[in-house]
Amino acid sequence: NKTILLKNRPKGRPTLDDFEFKEIEKPSPKEGEVLLKTKYVSVDPYLRGRMRDEKSYIEPFQLNEPVESGIIAEVIESNSENFKKGDYVNGMLQWKQFQTSNGKGLQKVDGSKAPLSAYLGVLGLTGITAYLGLKKIGDLEKGETLLVSGASGAVGTVVGQIGKIKGCKVVGIAGTDEKIKTIKEKFHFDEGINYKTTDNMKKAIAEACPNGVDVYYDNVGGEILDAAMANINYNGRVVCCGAISLYNKTEQPTGPRHETTLIKKSVLMQGFTVRDYQEEFPAAIQQLATWLQEDKLTYSETIVEGFDEIPQAFIDLFDGKNKGKMIVKV
Ligand code: NDP
Repeated sequence: NKTILLKNRPKGRPTLDDFEFKEIEKPSPKEGEVLLKTKYVSVDPYLRGRMRDEKSYIEPFQLNEPVESGIIAEVIESNSENFKKGDYVNGMLQWKQFQTSNGKGLQKVDGSKAPLSAYLGVLGLTGITAYLGLKKIGDLEKGETLLVSGASGAVGTVVGQIGKIKGCKVVGIAGTDEKIKTIKEKFHFDEGINYKTTDNMKKAIAEACPNGVDVYYDNVGGEILDAAMANINYNGRVVCCGAISLYNKTEQPTGPRHETTLIKKSVLMQGFTVRDYQEEFPAAIQQLATWLQEDKLTYSETIVEGFDEIPQAFIDLFDGKNKGKMIVKV
């Protein structure tokens, strides 16, 4: 039974040396507990934040302790009346091949309704984040222009498709021409901008959004946010969902440098933490599942195989190696 510990708090970009593999005993479930076998592990940009020793909405990881993330596991032994052998569950679990749980925070998932991995993406936290970020802050209206960064990722692909469902013009920003092709062809975005090959993002956004930007769904922060703000419309809304371009920076740029735009254009710019809306998760999942069934929504996954690959898959997020949700199959 292997586990992966956080060995060092990463300085800048995380490296494999920041993690340590350790062999531990396979536990036995006590009364009321289940023994879980890890099947699919979600690796997510936000985990980088938990590797810092900083107070946040969620506790930082402790050094020399297992990292945890969203995991789909199989119940292989049960001393709990709520779960039986063979059930699949989704929960915040530790990076271990086997672990016990008292069942708190575990949700059963039904592999016959959707592939198990989908419960970590389109029907999981990233799908819910896209849905609730738009609902709570974006407040999209038909005919508006929606701009989304990190457009080919887990959150971004769902944001863009919801924009199309709502009858908006949708423009996505991503890091390769292949990703731009995919967001247009597979996810039906109207336009795409490759930020890595575009010198002037402000101009490129202006050209792709001739009526300006009504809603900017920000997954990346930094200079792309600056370029989006230069194109934001009066009464625009900015969903501050993520800032991956800043996660590995040792110093954060000073701000707020968008204040005059916010005032002059009466723009709402709001931070958003999906965990604040847990009571709305079931309804969000229901809506996403309905759209999936109706073929209004689809998704991509990058599935890496092998427990030992978890740290590398996490690091690869910062190089954009994933298309859609990055998942490790154990
Ligand atoms: P993604 O699937 O979008 O993966 C990350 C992507 O970010 C990469 O594929 C890469 O694509 C892009 N990227 C990496 N570095 C940079 C950079 N320097 N500048 C611009 N883009 C970059 O991840 P998620 O969908 O899981 O998460 C998207 C965002 O949403 C993250 O910022 C995450 O922290 C945030 N989030 C927030 C939540 C909340 O409650 N507020 C909940 C869940 C996620 P490319 O090739 O295009 O560069």
